[in-house]
Amino acid sequence: MITEITVRTSGRTVFEDITSKVRDVVQKSGITDGICYVYVPHTTAAITINENADPSVSRDILYELNKVIPFSDGYHHMEGNSAAHIKSSLVGVSEMIFIEGGRLVLGTWQGIYFCEFDGPRTRKAYIKIIEG
Ligand code: ZN
Repeated sequence: MITEITVRTSGRTVFEDITSKVRDVVQKSGITDGICYVYVPHTTAAITINENADPSVSRDILYELNKVIPFSDGYHHMEGNSAAHIKSSLVGVSEMIFIEGGRLVLGTWQGIYFCEFDGPRTRKAYIKIIEG
């Protein structure tokens, strides 16, 4: 079974911490040992795991991504959001997190981020939990 969660993003490029939403899905599944996949079915968004203790870290990641991949650069894609497509492919659309003892196995400072590159929008992410 796939669980869909909704993520409302608050800016053009922003990281939204979805760790607690993913944790809720794991708890409701009742599965205590296994694997949790988080997947984003969008071409201008991504998923990443990084520090969630200091919000400056995600700001710095976005700052550098936006610098390396400018919003306008003579792109051919007519929709005008090529930068967002490129960032999506570079960061990637999925993450895998182990589940042990009913808990997500994340490092002390790690959080799961929905990465918006063409917002603000209402987005979704899919979560699949496999026991084992
Ligand atoms: Zn496009």
